[in-house]
Amino acid sequence: MSIINYIDTHCHLDGEEFSPDLDAVVQRAREAGCTRVFVPAIDLKSCLSVMDICRRYPDFCHPMLGLHPEEVRADWREVLSTLNSQLSTFNSILAIGEVGLDFYWSREFEQEQLEAFEEQVRWSVEMRLPLMIHCRKAQNEMVAILKRYADDLPGGVFHCFTGNEQEARQLLEFPRFVLGIGGVLTFKKSHLPEVLPACVPLDRLVLETDAPYMAPVPMRGQRNEPAFVRHVITRLAEAYGVTEEEICHHTNSNVSRVFGVK
Ligand SMILES: [Zn+2]
Repeated sequence: MSIINYIDTHCHLDGEEFSPDLDAVVQRAREAGCTRVFVPAIDLKSCLSVMDICRRYPDFCHPMLGLHPEEVRADWREVLSTLNSQLSTFNSILAIGEVGLDFYWSREFEQEQLEAFEEQVRWSVEMRLPLMIHCRKAQNEMVAILKRYADDLPGGVFHCFTGNEQEARQLLEFPRFVLGIGGVLTFKKSHLPEVLPACVPLDRLVLETDAPYMAPVPMRGQRNEPAFVRHVITRLAEAYGVTEEEICHHTNSNVSRVFGVK
């Protein structure tokens, strides 16, 4: 039996991809050593599905509520006002997320994305909830917004980090934030196995799947699930030259520091 214990800090377990066999997915996760998963909302509809699944597995799934940058439209103010009332209705919300900026596919709502993100950053400060941040092709813009609140931010995760050393260093300047590392680390062309040990200390990393996306090698192309984090742990241990237990020990204490959850 394995003594590995880890937390998947970013997993869309409420997605319909999991509805046919959710119990089995949770069972496999637990058997692999996954003790908790943090489930982010992306829009109003998913706030409800996230809360549902967290009620169904109360000691295992933990909710994060927010408006994802790719879901920001002209009506973002109304959406955020509804979301804000949900944040105060439900207790046990772990973080604001996932929120951020994404200019990869489209800049159609660029201004709206910037304003919606900043509003949710303010919530994080006011409610003392960490941020689960999604950022693609917008790191400078994101950093500029965060810097305005730098002293007051409670912390958070830069989820699905895939950048270079310079980008990692820029993010680590926010002292209460950590980088979320998932399946991309295991991809053949990934430079993360060199970048991370070169500039990211083990006390600044957390593990994630981003399931159902981003399945690690050798599961690449399949539906990702929390049990597959084992492959990420193995690759991280190789990259840092430490044991898998050490990877789990560090990432677990990072989670408990950032989210207040053990
Ligand atoms: Zn996500």
